[in-house]
Amino acid sequence: MPSPYEIAILPGDGIGTEITKPCVELLQRAVTAAGAQPLREIWLEAGAATYQKTGESLPEATVTACRSADAILLAAMGDPAVRYPDGTEIIPQIELRFILGLYAGVRPVRSIPGVGGPLKDPRGDALNFVLIRESTEGLFASVGKGTRSENEATDTQLITREGTRRVSDFAFRLAQRRKAKGHVGELTCVDKANVFKSMAFFRDVFDETSRAYPEIRRRYGYVDAVALEMVKRPWIYDVMVTENMYGDILSDLGAGLIGGLGMAPSADIGDDHAVFQPCHGSAPDIAGSGKANPTAMFLSGAMMLEWLADEHDDPLAGKAAQLVVDAVDAAYADGSLVSTERGGTAGVAEITQAVNAALKV
Ligand code: ATP
Ligand code: MG
Repeated sequence: MPSPYEIAILPGDGIGTEITKPCVELLQRAVTAAGAQPLREIWLEAGAATYQKTGESLPEATVTACRSADAILLAAMGDPAVRYPDGTEIIPQIELRFILGLYAGVRPVRSIPGVGGPLKDPRGDALNFVLIRESTEGLFASVGKGTRSENEATDTQLITREGTRRVSDFAFRLAQRRKAKGHVGELTCVDKANVFKSMAFFRDVFDETSRAYPEIRRRYGYVDAVALEMVKRPWIYDVMVTENMYGDILSDLGAGLIGGLGMAPSADIGDDHAVFQPCHGSAPDIAGSGKANPTAMFLSGAMMLEWLADEHDDPLAGKAAQLVVDAVDAAYADGSLVSTERGGTAGVAEITQAVNAALKV
């Protein structure tokens, strides 16, 4: 039996503090049910409340513990009412991405039957694709470096060979792993190669990388056309890879397709570390009311277990991940569990209860 995994846990702010404990308890029950050892929990401070208390939003001790953990589980950080002296928002989760070199943003778009999204076609209830967003360069590399004068402002789009190679390679490996689990094994490069030199370069490096993966079918899409297809017939996709800004926009579109932010999990993965967190923020408007939907957090926890399973070749962790996903699916299956964000009455307590009741132990 593998040694227990050390998990760095960062509840953060707002609804993050309400959904973390239910998630960790669910994961521990799943791990036990799967016959694996319990997770070793390392609870850590970071975020706006930590900044208020200590003057630091991402304490060194937290970073050190994150570096040595096997995986990092993060809920949500930030509070518009608490800011740095220069007025900027406190977003240590983005700092962490750069500190730990988390270049691949993984955004699964998997619909949960019984939840329902905006698509009327029945195939809209059976979506299962993954968007990979490059997370360290593109237009975001211009943050703090853009220029602005009286009549002009500029930002620079930076695409590097190494940045594109490693994220393409990550996406091809994911497509490979999914193929082994029964998916078609296709990777779509999403760009705007017809207009921008930087994007033509992105596509060329994607093509070079593809040579190592002959069994994965390559496809291409211009980002505008892909946005249209994601609304018209998103079931045509398996895995997509794109640059930072396009990925930022398309991943919110993806969350919209499966019932909203409260349903959408994510991961930010690098060569040595990985952070798992729901797509949503700290939702200060509903914090403390019990209305938050913890589903995205549960599914992010399941992604963490699945990643640990793949990294450590550990089928028991994979089994635990599947138990969590199955429990979420079973809880929503008959359509009676409706979260507050979707007009229902179920909040943290009700959804936690329903998913735990559905967990096969
Ligand atoms: P960030 O900048 O940190 O991404 P944001 O400004 O995009 O944050 P969120 O905190 O994600 O905003 O919230 C956006 C809206 O979605 C809010 O109205 C919030 O209440 C709602 N929301 C977000 N997450 C959830 C959730 N888990 N359950 C219910 N409602 C949610
Ligand atoms: Mg947001």
